[in-house]
Amino acid sequence: MKRQINFNAGPAEMPAEVLHEASKAVKRFGSTGSSILELSHRSKEFLDIVEESKTLVKQLCGIGSDYDVVWMQGGGRLQFCMLPMNFLDAKVGAGYLDTGHWADEAQKYATHYGKAEVLASSKEGNYNHLPEWPKKIPASLPYLHLTTNNTIYGTQWQTIGDSSAPLVADMSSDIFSGKRDYSKYAMFYAAAQKNLGAAGTTLVVIRKDFLDKAKADMPPMLSYKAQVKENSILNTANVFGVYVSLLTLRWIKEKGIAAIEKENKAKAKLLYDALDSSKVFVPHVKDKTQRSRMNVCFTATNAKQEKAFLELCEANDITGIKGHRLAGGFRASLYNAIELSSVERLVAVMAEFEAQAV
Ligand code: PMP
Repeated sequence: MKRQINFNAGPAEMPAEVLHEASKAVKRFGSTGSSILELSHRSKEFLDIVEESKTLVKQLCGIGSDYDVVWMQGGGRLQFCMLPMNFLDAKVGAGYLDTGHWADEAQKYATHYGKAEVLASSKEGNYNHLPEWPKKIPASLPYLHLTTNNTIYGTQWQTIGDSSAPLVADMSSDIFSGKRDYSKYAMFYAAAQKNLGAAGTTLVVIRKDFLDKAKADMPPMLSYKAQVKENSILNTANVFGVYVSLLTLRWIKEKGIAAIEKENKAKAKLLYDALDSSKVFVPHVKDKTQRSRMNVCFTATNAKQEKAFLELCEANDITGIKGHRLAGGFRASLYNAIELSSVERLVAVMAEFEAQAV
């Protein structure tokens, strides 16, 4: 069967090379005589996978030995819980920037464990813009949490303001999509199912001085200190998932972040230009400096057209284009694995649709 162009927001399209290598490993992993699915998480082979992945993450982020890298499970949402569990209590409150559904969820989860104040929000206007960066962020906050890319509404912080409090970022939907100063962050995390591999694997990177401030008296599974100490194998690790992330990291390194950024900019420009000149489609985010290069959200002028456009996409082997139920309309997720030719195809289908509709 023909491979579809998959614009899903995650799980999302993966690089063909990664899929090829991963499927080989399912049959037989290296010289082990076993499938990767049969490999012990305490084996030397898995330890090598963890070490290489940690080295690659640090290289790609341009960070050094003052950071720890750990693989966890439980996706983005478990980080929404673990972060406040490890750093908040009834007295100390953190700051949150509310820029979309996931940012809002992160803040709401935090209120179960301590104070979590929204310092800026763009909820009015259905998150079609980013709020102004707060003028003053007190150094007394244990952390300021932000979501670098808002998957559902299609905004992305291109520049990050100053913060006297440690910065913690959910980078689930734009990690490794371009150049970024990762050393600004005390901690960042990313669920893997967009730019970093398969669902069920989560990358957490935490600076040692920030980790020092985490609570020690915690159930080990939920403790950053314990997870780091046990080097990603506190419990039975997601061996296959971490391996798929390693393959993705190797693929990213081979291409280079600069080249990936250039491609991502070209893909996003192509689609936004088509939307800006369209009579049928309307981009959700108007401010060009705030538009996401990863998730391009748009609507059609009426609901009947939306259904017809989805059908035309399907007929052209384009899938995953329906918008999130909270935002409606359409969303094309242009993660690293999506090729420019796939966006060209989408834009051609949009033009065909427009020619029939107007
Ligand atoms: N953060 C962001 C930015 C996301 O896009 C998502 C999911 N799409 C999540 C967190 C939640 O991730 P998970 O489903 O792995 O909990």
